[in-house]
Amino acid sequence: MDEPAVSRSSIRVVLLGPPGAGKGTQAQRIAGESGVPHVSTGDMFRDAVKKGTPLGREAKAYMDRGELVPDRIVIGIVEERLKGRDAHGGFVLDGFPRTVQQARALEQGLQTRGTGISHVLNLSVPAEEVVKRISGRRVCRQCGAMYHELFSPPTEGGRCDRCQGELYQRDDDREETVTARLDVYARETSPLVAFYRERGILAEIDGVGGPDAVARRITEALDGAGR
Ligand code: AMP
Repeated sequence: MDEPAVSRSSIRVVLLGPPGAGKGTQAQRIAGESGVPHVSTGDMFRDAVKKGTPLGREAKAYMDRGELVPDRIVIGIVEERLKGRDAHGGFVLDGFPRTVQQARALEQGLQTRGTGISHVLNLSVPAEEVVKRISGRRVCRQCGAMYHELFSPPTEGGRCDRCQGELYQRDDDREETVTARLDVYARETSPLVAFYRERGILAEIDGVGGPDAVARRITEALDGAGR
């Protein structure tokens, strides 16, 4: 990995926000700038699906319906991932936790190692905007880079600028599944906003605008507070 551009000692960040809020894009940027791994449970599941592992087969059924993979499965894989050496100096969590039970398990797991989450960034974007963003979203099959048909198209149609990989639309980004995912977010995940606000580590980030504008707001939240 390149040298981190910003000196951020040991940031342990959670990104909250509905599907399409820009969590993946911003998580990749924060992780790259800070020299810590980007941990995306959605990416981990998609990778397992692609490889056809037992985890992938089990997760796929839930993902295709826009439902959450059960807590017992998700919590286990995140615990394992955060034990990795590269995550000892910090991490950016994208798509986890998504339920209060997951948030409690994360808190307890980190507490036993004498640490905790340093920042929770809640990316807020209005529902109409979310639907627009998701319907145009395309992902590189090879490296996971993200594009948008209208807002950030690749230079060459259908191919990734970074690695020339094929761009595709996630199955769960189709319209019928998006509504289910937004419902699940409102019911299961949005209570985490209050959970983290109570702990004094929540920063509200306006997620409207281009990726650079949102990234600037995030930088202020991460570097301004100086935790
Ligand atoms: P994402 O890429 O974060 O939108 O995740 C895609 C799908 O993976 C979700 O709609 C869920 O089915 C599943 N998933 C990802 N993260 C979690 C999680 N923390 N808990 C339960 N299911 C998850």
